[in-house]
Amino acid sequence: MRQLILASRNVGKIREFKRMMDQSSISVEVLSLLDFPQLPDVDETGTTLQENSRLKAVQITQATGKPCLADDSGIFIDALNGDPGVYSARWSGVHGDDEANIVKVLQQIRDLELNGAVDRSAQFRCVVALAFPEGHARGGEVVFESGEMPGKIIDVPRGEHGFGYDPIFVPDGFTQTSAELSAEAKDQISHRGQAMRKILPILSATL
Ligand code: IMP
Repeated sequence: MRQLILASRNVGKIREFKRMMDQSSISVEVLSLLDFPQLPDVDETGTTLQENSRLKAVQITQATGKPCLADDSGIFIDALNGDPGVYSARWSGVHGDDEANIVKVLQQIRDLELNGAVDRSAQFRCVVALAFPEGHARGGEVVFESGEMPGKIIDVPRGEHGFGYDPIFVPDGFTQTSAELSAEAKDQISHRGQAMRKILPILSATL
């Protein structure tokens, strides 16, 4: 069976990607970096989501010889001038510590509020990169798609679903946080869901 590698060890992201791949009609075995513990983490040295998604997709395609899908994503908070943005996963200083990242962001907003009302608008953004290995008809190419989910940051985390900053993010048009929405409801509106719906036809035509 054909294989597609997700260039991530983030369990929350992998769950969302696998769910959306399962719901598509594409018959492909989906693996992630959790299936390749020997591969080193890719250094995310880019300053944009596109650069980092390219770095991950290309390096993991070269290491595995399989088509690879990478996601670089983050939350961009208007009052923090777009921070934490590309640094969302490591905002507290410890990569992937979701709780500490939330605490830091909420503290930064509270500090700003000492000087008056703060605009709590924010967007989740996601860029996915699909890289093809040498020997594939599209070997060496990288295809990008993106998605964005606007909303507001709340003060007290709510909800058990999702991952990352979901418990403090209420998508526009909703009253629940994205951690209170069902998995399927989040996929319908999320930055990752939008990027995936755009890249699925390309996966279907090329894998
Ligand atoms: P990356 O692995 O460098 O792309 O880091 C992405 C980080 O952005 C995650 O670790 C989360 O902190 C945050 N993030 C991205 N997408 C989501 C989401 O759908 N919900 C909550 N947090 C997210």
